[in-house]
Amino acid sequence: MKIGFIGLGNMGAPMAANLIAAGHAVTGFDVAPIALDGLTMAATAGDAAMGQDVVITMLPDGLILRDVAAEIIPVMAAGAGFIDCSTVDVDSARAVADAAHNAGLLAVDAPVSGGIGGASAGTLTFMAGGSEAGFALAAPLFDIMGQKAVHCGASGAGQAAKICNNMILGITMIGTCEAFALADKLGLDRQKMFDVVSTSSGYSWSMNAYCPAPGIGPASPADKNYAPGFAAELMVKDLNLSQDAARSVDADTPLGAAAAELYRRFVEDEDGLGKDFSAMLPRFEKRGRGA
Ligand code: NAD
Repeated sequence: MKIGFIGLGNMGAPMAANLIAAGHAVTGFDVAPIALDGLTMAATAGDAAMGQDVVITMLPDGLILRDVAAEIIPVMAAGAGFIDCSTVDVDSARAVADAAHNAGLLAVDAPVSGGIGGASAGTLTFMAGGSEAGFALAAPLFDIMGQKAVHCGASGAGQAAKICNNMILGITMIGTCEAFALADKLGLDRQKMFDVVSTSSGYSWSMNAYCPAPGIGPASPADKNYAPGFAAELMVKDLNLSQDAARSVDADTPLGAAAAELYRRFVEDEDGLGKDFSAMLPRFEKRGRGA
């Protein structure tokens, strides 16, 4: 396929590299200078999008996505696919998909889970929203860049799945970290805590696959002094998106709101910026109830 790829940062560059390695002709655009083997760079987003079978975007947020969409939709040929893999608010995803649909394009919102490691290894999970035809067009590309793609429903459903998943992740990571800190103060050995919880009803991905305690469980960022992994500030972004969405549909999400506030404080006031989101454990370790 002829593919335009816009937004070649930490995630976009390795995703584009995998498409190139699979034999696709990829033309890229980024506002920052980017060089990638086998990638033709265009001077503008419009140039990268014109004449392509599919355009993929991997951008920081919904406002930037809306700007880029306004530039590329008018130059794309009817029937082409517009696949946005950024994590953005549901409203922006739906607005962009509507504009693309009105121009005769097949629009898919397809945020990803799996991080930079998954982008490089081609093992991302895609959660997609859009029509059957749009999903069918995108599916072979998801197969190259990822290991699983779920068609979640109409436009916006991919973003909805992503922010709900990450709201659960933020909440369970905080719960796991505060329980470890409590266990420490109760004199419980961390390995014993892991052995019990990872095989009991408190188990979760945060405990079992990404244990926040160094030296316990499978290898995780905790074993590398909490170098990310999934940075706490990205968790703040996703938790804020979940709270924006909850407000827009009047959903009651008290634990999501508490997680958003705890991670915001962690990043802004408590030295959490640039640390993995599991570094909540040393944060709780140092505190007492009054802190
Ligand atoms: P990044 O900041 O490394 O990359 C974004 C790229 O977009 C940058 O290269 C930037 O120069 C470019 N850009 C900004 N404005 C642009 C414009 N107007 N036109 C063209 N390019 C523009 O971010 P990232 O880590 O690659 O994340 C990209 C998206 O993926 C975000 O929405 C993020 O939430 C999501 N995501 C990231 C991770 C992760 O672990 N990094 C995991 C899952 C999802």
